[in-house]
Amino acid sequence: MDNKFPGKDISSEDLTSKFPLAAKKNSEHKSKFIISGVEFGGNTIPIFAGPNMVESKELIFNVAENVKKIGAHFLRGGAFKPLTFPYRSEKYNETREEGIRWLGLAKEKYKIPIITEVMEEKFLPMICEVADILQIGSRNMQNYPLITAAAKTQKPLMIKRHYGSSLRDWLGAAEYALVEGNEKILLCERGVSVPHTHRSTSRFLLDLQVVPAAKEVTHLPIIVDPSHATFWRAWVKSMSLASVASGADGIMLEVHPDPKNSAVDPLQPIDFREFDILIKDMHNLSKLLFKKKIL
Ligand code: PEP
Ligand code: MN
Repeated sequence: MDNKFPGKDISSEDLTSKFPLAAKKNSEHKSKFIISGVEFGGNTIPIFAGPNMVESKELIFNVAENVKKIGAHFLRGGAFKPLTFPYRSEKYNETREEGIRWLGLAKEKYKIPIITEVMEEKFLPMICEVADILQIGSRNMQNYPLITAAAKTQKPLMIKRHYGSSLRDWLGAAEYALVEGNEKILLCERGVSVPHTHRSTSRFLLDLQVVPAAKEVTHLPIIVDPSHATFWRAWVKSMSLASVASGADGIMLEVHPDPKNSAVDPLQPIDFREFDILIKDMHNLSKLLFKKKIL
């Protein structure tokens, strides 16, 4: 294996035999496509914003209205949530199918497209009625039957990187989607697992190096989710700006009207005011560095 490509893990042969569809055909090759009127891989850096979980109809309406006004391109929110532990509040049990319906109502009322997670194939038809992008969560990055089924719907997919996965494995997951003839595939870095030693700062480490590394080998747009990576609101702003500077093709952010009372992961969401300031700063930075706009 030659080490021409990053991570000493990807060989030039991988590009032709392991993930020929995800691989760049030449140095200029970059996917550009439109999802619900928003261009990816072009001169805009789309922003996905919203709560971790679709907690209630009121919450998702409030967030949809505000993030749209502030400048988000997509509303995010999980109705089906891969929670790390099985004990869940009643709120969660209510929000599964109901949450998808609330997302649909928010989409209609506030005219904002939706990205939401799919965990099980059987719920794909109902989720597809509402979602503009299907999110494959980090925990399901190697659930190939799920990726195949989701890709077959021909809905755009965003595949979050598993926190223990290499770039090579991540591109393998994308290949499973591409081989179904679905070309609207986004990849999302969301932090990798670090050993809990004195050297770690948190549960996950935002791997920004993967953005330029991925771009050396794939034409697919790379989204970054600093909220899940940092797990800590105070770091979200600087890491979002760093994500833009790293060349990210889109940013996913957890935004909640009352972050401390978020039903899931209350340490990571930012509020509307912080989001408003951050999106302007990201816009100014991306204009300065890449002549790309956000707002
Ligand atoms: C999410 O985006 O809601 C989520 C659960 O993310 P991840 O799969 O990256 O943990
Ligand atoms: Mn989460």
